[in-house]
Amino acid sequence: MGKPLGILGGTFDPIHYGHLRPAQEVLRALDLAEMRFIPAAYPPHRHPPVATAEQRLRMVELAVAGVPGFTVDDRELRRGGPSYTVLTLESLRREFADRPLCLVMGRDAFEGIETWHQWERLPELAHLIVMTRPGWTIPPGDALPLWARNRRARNPGELAQTTGGKIYFQAVTPQDISATRIRDAIARNEPMEKLLPSTVNDYIRHTRIYRNRGN
Ligand code: ATP
Repeated sequence: MGKPLGILGGTFDPIHYGHLRPAQEVLRALDLAEMRFIPAAYPPHRHPPVATAEQRLRMVELAVAGVPGFTVDDRELRRGGPSYTVLTLESLRREFADRPLCLVMGRDAFEGIETWHQWERLPELAHLIVMTRPGWTIPPGDALPLWARNRRARNPGELAQTTGGKIYFQAVTPQDISATRIRDAIARNEPMEKLLPSTVNDYIRHTRIYRNRGN
């Protein structure tokens, strides 16, 4: 079956260490073959991004360049239309028929999953890996909706046994960073070196993406 493939979708407006460090921890903890970053072209569940899809893809490329195990996948930009995760997983499933797929998301994203397009199909197509985020801890079993409780995996080894269908909560070192906070910091001309890679920082300064813009 091969090692599981990690998938981290997001708006990445911009990508930051709150994505990159937890993703690294998940890659190691779950012994994934790779962590694939998939920027959303037209994220359907939120206000439109400030940076264009091409700029956000470029920032992800800069952030993962040279990092072992990290890759970028631009299928949501190539596809066009709303970036529904279910369509992305279907297309990955066609490519990797027998491979465990691990859809990775922060706890905040998981809380809203029942609003996603055809969300019931997501755990049929992949495992769901939920990372802790500051303010969010690993929930006790009885705090989860029934559909999630019944799918819960207790150890990462279970993820390599099926191609999908499990939900696993992975504690990661808290990173109190969000893209919203970074866009605010840029608007106020505050330093961002601790929040994102220098290559992304340089790109943002050069292109002035987040200057004089509403967030
Ligand atoms: P925004 O502030 O614009 O809402 P964001 O920083 O939350 O953006 P997204 O690109 O929307 O970033 O997030 C992509 C994925 O990464 C989501 O599943 C989100 O929960 C997760 N994520 C983002 N920041 C963190 C963080 N600091 N710790 C853990 N997970 C995170």
